[in-house]
Amino acid sequence: MLNEILSYREMCNIESVQTLQRGMNFNINPHYSIILMSRRPNAPYHDRILEDGFTLEYEGHDEAKTSPSINPKGLDQPKYTKNGTLTQNGLFIKAVEEYKNRKNCPELVKVYEKILPGVWSLKGVFDLIDYRSENDGRRNVFIFTLKLSEQQGLTSEISEPEHTRLIPTEVKKEVWKRDNGKCAKCGANKNLHFDHDLPFSLGGTSLTAKNIKLLCARCNLAKSNKIE
Ligand SMILES: [Zn+2]
Repeated sequence: MLNEILSYREMCNIESVQTLQRGMNFNINPHYSIILMSRRPNAPYHDRILEDGFTLEYEGHDEAKTSPSINPKGLDQPKYTKNGTLTQNGLFIKAVEEYKNRKNCPELVKVYEKILPGVWSLKGVFDLIDYRSENDGRRNVFIFTLKLSEQQGLTSEISEPEHTRLIPTEVKKEVWKRDNGKCAKCGANKNLHFDHDLPFSLGGTSLTAKNIKLLCARCNLAKSNKIE
């Protein structure tokens, strides 16, 4: 479910994998790829949600640190491995190109984000629609553009208007800390998700922690019954 809070183990179980070691996992599943977003220590906003609230920009991955003398941050992000096969960057680029040449539908990408150590959340299912190469001041990096897909069905999520805009990771982090990782109503610490006090359809915004709180599944059900 979108904005549901998961442990690392729960996330792996959902995806039927032992581990998810890599950030980029092209075609890990016959139907989709998986991207893990996790803020790096020096990045001010690693996830860039654009103004429209639907578009996500994701930076590609660095060269592997195969020896102590290699500083991956000083090298262009690679499209090919040393053997000439495509890296994860290369595989995602190829999918964009095939989509743009109208050979394929956009690659579906499930995006999970790490809020805090051990605290993961499904950001949503996205269409991989574009990429560019950009100089970050030191080297060239890839920036992938993903748009929230209409095919949220993969997440068994009923498409509700209030879920169709993205909550920035920073805001989730703030909410998680403020609510101490517990349901804001009953204090439960299981089956939690990030809940909008005021749905987007009624003019709510996702951009501040003020109108988002942690709710358990039970309190959420009680809340939606009340609205109906
Ligand atoms: Zn509760």
